[in-house]
Amino acid sequence: MAEYDLAVIGGGLNGVSVARDAAGRGLRVVLLEQGDLGAAASSATPRLIHGDLSALERRGLFRVRAALAEREVWLRIAPHLVRPVRFVIPDHSDERPSWLLRSGLLLYDWLAPRAGLPASQTIDVTHHPVGNALKRPFGTAFEYSDCLVDDSRLVIAIAADAAERGADIRTGARCVRAERSGIWRLVVIDRGHRRVITARALVNASGAWTASVMETVLRMKPPKLSVSRISQIVVRRLFDPEIVYVFQNSDRRLIFASPYGRDFTLIGTAGHAFRGDPAIVSMAVGEVAYLCDAANRYFRERIDPSDVIRTVSGANAVTDPASRSAKRDGTVRFDARRGKAPLLTMFGGDVTTSRLRAERAVARLAPFYPMSPRWTATAALPGGDFECSQFEAQVDAACERWRFLSEAQARRLVAAYGSRLDIVLGHAKSRADLGPAFGLELSGAEVCYLMAKEWARFPDDILSRRSKLGLTMSPGDREALAAFMAACSQGSIDSCEPATRAG
Ligand SMILES: Cc1cc2nc3c(=O)[nH]c(=O)nc-3n(C[C@H](O)[C@H](O)[C@H](O)COP(=O)(O)OP(=O)(O)OC[C@H]3O[C@@H](n4cnc5c(N)ncnc54)[C@H](O)[C@@H]3O)c2cc1C
Repeated sequence: MAEYDLAVIGGGLNGVSVARDAAGRGLRVVLLEQGDLGAAASSATPRLIHGDLSALERRGLFRVRAALAEREVWLRIAPHLVRPVRFVIPDHSDERPSWLLRSGLLLYDWLAPRAGLPASQTIDVTHHPVGNALKRPFGTAFEYSDCLVDDSRLVIAIAADAAERGADIRTGARCVRAERSGIWRLVVIDRGHRRVITARALVNASGAWTASVMETVLRMKPPKLSVSRISQIVVRRLFDPEIVYVFQNSDRRLIFASPYGRDFTLIGTAGHAFRGDPAIVSMAVGEVAYLCDAANRYFRERIDPSDVIRTVSGANAVTDPASRSAKRDGTVRFDARRGKAPLLTMFGGDVTTSRLRAERAVARLAPFYPMSPRWTATAALPGGDFECSQFEAQVDAACERWRFLSEAQARRLVAAYGSRLDIVLGHAKSRADLGPAFGLELSGAEVCYLMAKEWARFPDDILSRRSKLGLTMSPGDREALAAFMAACSQGSIDSCEPATRAG
């Protein structure tokens, strides 16, 4: 008898989504992540929840429609993490003709579910605030609706939901060997300790490590795979936080410039083939210059490579690099041989369709276990149990309840924790009630919550992934945070009970 029904290798978006889906269907699930949840490709996505306008050019009507339906699902189940935003494409006479963009957007609106977001429109940027950040020559722009997501917090929220439904989420747990018979027998180095885990089925969701996990852990011959790298840059804020600009570059690529945290702008994406260690994915100097040049064609404020505060890159495996659908939807391979425990392998795919991908993957196991029907499209993620239209009301309520918060602070906290903010801040009446402060934003209470409930172990887990506060935090505050977290994990701070396993 195996301890678990399903073991998942990899705590990126694919891994946690499968773990959530399977745990909610009643399976006993364990997820093994060698580092921190979402620390690889899943925190380097373009942060878009969208139908993918460019897919219309490739006649991907059904794909766009399915992705737009998923956009509605995300707004319903994660209204704190997924935010409707207006996307603006400045009309550039050298690129796609205006009639093509206009008709593409009409089709995009038509494909979106009816209860959706505001329709597209043509705007005169010379008399519209969206023109403020743009260079003068642009007279017209096309505006349409899509959504932005906090990708790394989405991974955490999905993992937290999986844990609340019984999944055993283990971070700092590297699977080093998997032996297959009627069940899987996994050898795991779990925070320095060797453990053996047994499971009836296995999911390999190890992203850019997929081939090496197949070869060295599962001892199987991997299929022909390529690894692609995604690269983006972060610069100081160039425009209003409620807009995403979509630039048509001269190579026909669409470059997105979107708000990143409160005070920064993320510009991407450039995709390239990648060879090397997926744990150290970095961006080439030429790619930084490419993205700066693309932005400088459109924005009035010039940016140079020296203005880049951070680069955001990740890599993932793709089965067929020439196929855009393989990149977008990902690929799931199912291997069930007589007398052998089943194996599912997940390759890449985007954020928008990740829930659907996981649902379909888990459904492949239905012949092997009794399991309840699909459920993830309607169940809110932790903190997401309010209507998307109520987001501002949640911010107002937070300002009213915790009067020491500024509006901007309340907005950040609601966007991160939604209705769970209550658990983070509790009955605090003043800032002092929240324990030590690490800079202007981060409190001891929030750190304790992240350590106890969201698997944060190191400062970067909090400063880069569970928030973006690392972009503005001083070295002194960072050191104080590291000391506080070390004391918490040794149990020497009473109010902050360490949790080796959150949930
Ligand atoms: C070039 C490129 C373009 C992309 N474009 C888009 C886009 O336009 N839109 C979009 O939404 N998304 C895009 N993505 C997708 C996105 O970045 C991720 O692919 C997606 O989040 C799914 O990630 P994952 O879970 O497969 O992998 P990852 O997030 O990389 O997770 C894999 C995890 O497995 C863990 N792991 C590996 N080996 C082991 C082991 N032995 N034991 C335990 N753990 C292990 C790793 O530590 C890692 O955390 C793109 C990705 C790439 C590479």
